Amino acid sequence: MATSQCGIPAQLPADEVTRQQVLESFRILDSLPEQSYDDIVTLAAHICAVPIALISLIDSERQWFKAKVGLDAPQTPREQAFCAHAILNPSDIMEVPDAKLDPRFANNPLVTGEPGIRFYAGAPLVTPFGSALGTLCIIDRVPRRLTPPMAKALKALARQVVRLLELRRALAELETLTQAQQERQQQLEATQKRLDQVISELAQQTMTDSLTGLKNRRAFDQILKEDSSRMVRTHSSLALILLDIDDFKAFNDEFGHVSGDEALQQLARVLQSQARAYDRVARYGGEEFAIVLPDTSMAEALCMAERIRQEVQDADWPNRPVTVSLGVAVASTAADCLSLVARADKVLYQAKETGRNCVVCDNSVA
Ligand code: GH3
Ligand code: MG
Ligand code: MG
Repeated sequence: MATSQCGIPAQLPADEVTRQQVLESFRILDSLPEQSYDDIVTLAAHICAVPIALISLIDSERQWFKAKVGLDAPQTPREQAFCAHAILNPSDIMEVPDAKLDPRFANNPLVTGEPGIRFYAGAPLVTPFGSALGTLCIIDRVPRRLTPPMAKALKALARQVVRLLELRRALAELETLTQAQQERQQQLEATQKRLDQVISELAQQTMTDSLTGLKNRRAFDQILKEDSSRMVRTHSSLALILLDIDDFKAFNDEFGHVSGDEALQQLARVLQSQARAYDRVARYGGEEFAIVLPDTSMAEALCMAERIRQEVQDADWPNRPVTVSLGVAVASTAADCLSLVARADKVLYQAKETGRNCVVCDNSVA
């Protein structure tokens, strides 16, 4: 092999491509100094009584030092690296007792110049799958030999470096997994939120009358049930107004269904404008409407019904005046609630009988 100004450069390991990939996977190159690695080189230097100790990782074009004592350079070219030779035999320490007498290193600038290496011993950093990433090495400026206890300690410390590297990779993998888990969680929460929104919109739709935008019959039944329970709990009274458009069939016959629909929409607006914040207006069926009035006495409900009758009569109707007949009933016990709709309906019928465009109240319960 040709001797260059660097000495005899090391061959590439047989598994160089894999070895590089494994080294990359640790994401250790160019990382910041870390105490645990620094401690290991300090210990190695101390145990072997040398001025220089390094954790050297062999990258494609350089050797980079994860930790170092006694040397300032952060890296050197790979062709100058003693460690590039050391990783060729992953199973053993490479020892160079006197670099000046070793043809591989005699001309190496690290030997002929700074830091003036004479003695080198490097324990390969071998992963469990056999890739030698670099070495834990010690260096002296005078020729020497490694004693068996020093060799043993160097190997043990090299194993600890690999253990640290593996821990680092496991932690990074865990972080990636945790992050992926968090992202998945966020996606799930966003989906859940959208789903809740769709469900709530659907629920709203199933409770709304599409023509008038008022509560529909299904919503009315539910509201009445809830307000009845609340009334019993709070010992208050609950009033119900049922109202029906007078002669609406004739209206439809005369002006058509579209005008009839518009009249229903206009009536809905009148009713809504008369309702208090806590009253609930519903389209009970065809041209019949219901207003549930919580915490309301018969006198108050009657007053409200009369006002509505008047407002409807006075409203500006495009085709012909529209009037309504109204029945009012009140409940103040659970038993009253059960008959509330029937009683309101009965007096509404009476209002029709009486001549329409009037209010009749139910006096059958005390
Ligand atoms: P009364 O004064 O006795 O209530 O007479 P009426 O004509 O209003 O009563 P009837 O029950 O005979 O007719 C109700 C009419 O309401 C018949 C139906 O065509 C109309 N109607 C019900 N729902 C709608 C609707 O959604 N749109 C339209 N345009 N008309 C409707
Ligand atoms: Mg009618
Ligand atoms: Mg009717």
